[in-house]
Amino acid sequence: MRLPLYLDYNSTTPVDPRVFEAMRPYFLEEFGNPESRTHLYGERAKHAVEKARSQVADALGVEAGEIVFTSGATEANNLVLLGLARAGEETGRRHILATAVEHRSVLEPLANLRERGFEVELLPVTAGGYVEPDAVRDQLREDTLLVSVMHANNETGVLQPVLEVAELLAGTRTLYHVDAAQTFGKEMDTLPGLTCDFLSLSGHKIYGPKGIGALFIRRGTGRPSRLVPLLHGGAQERGLRPGTLPVPLVVGLGMAAALAMHEFRERREVAARVKERFLRELAGIEYRVNGALERTQAHVVNVSLPGVDSEAFMLAARAELAISNGAACTTASHSPSHVLRAMGLTEDLMASAVRISWGLGVTEIPVEGILSRVQSLRCDRI
Ligand code: PMP
Repeated sequence: MRLPLYLDYNSTTPVDPRVFEAMRPYFLEEFGNPESRTHLYGERAKHAVEKARSQVADALGVEAGEIVFTSGATEANNLVLLGLARAGEETGRRHILATAVEHRSVLEPLANLRERGFEVELLPVTAGGYVEPDAVRDQLREDTLLVSVMHANNETGVLQPVLEVAELLAGTRTLYHVDAAQTFGKEMDTLPGLTCDFLSLSGHKIYGPKGIGALFIRRGTGRPSRLVPLLHGGAQERGLRPGTLPVPLVVGLGMAAALAMHEFRERREVAARVKERFLRELAGIEYRVNGALERTQAHVVNVSLPGVDSEAFMLAARAELAISNGAACTTASHSPSHVLRAMGLTEDLMASAVRISWGLGVTEIPVEGILSRVQSLRCDRI
């Protein structure tokens, strides 16, 4: 069977063969438990884990000891948000700010905190899909425990003003978390300069394996940033994330981070050329880009095709194109995207929105097939 062209890189990416080769020995010969201190197998596994930790830290320009491996960005987001609850309760700082367009793995822990008595405010975004730093400044209070802002939105690719927010939080006691699941390994010119207390990242968005990610936890901030772990039962990862580390996945994340560091600029340039050509060729039909184009990552575009139901479009294009109309984790529910709603899209524009995202190996998007399907679906409606 010939698989359709994969254009859903924001959802997940294939593993880079170089990453796969780096992981392979840790499944086969080098299978030790990094916590085994009595033999060489453990020692070698430990060494591989610490090398990967340094690779991730180097990519962020931070210390290796500030990286805690998790199963992915979902867990990293849960660890920081739920893990801070006790610090908030003990210090009486129960106010939390986040944007309305955060990923579900931020919104749902926040909903849980709200049930536990925290005051969670979701900040509105502009029609362009980004939060205004002033909106953060206006709502900031003495008792604001945490501000959580994603670096790039997964549905639109719109970059949030994370540096400006860092600046306005400098000198306050408020902690700052950035969900960088969509930018780690991609926007590597911004990330090392970003001053935050916590940062979540994921392996499978950057040609690493699924099931691995990390939380960066800044040390020595003098702020009440002590996290309570979600899991109990071991001292691994400084007790913050007990459980035997999946060494091959950790090695894969380290390798993916190191490769991305070297290649992100070139990858981004290629992706930008693909986008430019795609939008130029799409000009033959009526469409609307969702999200301020000049603030959007190079490898993704979210477009509404007025009058065309996105579900019908994806079904019609299914044999040739693997695309989505939002986050993979929410598409099953078929409910309109909370991101596009927060941006103020009309029902029709929301119902006709598709997300196309690409990466390594994609040099062009076959626009002909898209145009003809859009035209025939529009005719069906008349
Ligand atoms: N945050 C954002 C912005 C994401 O795009 C994703 C992945 N869709 C996640 C968090 C969750 O990442 P993971 O799949 O590694 O749990």
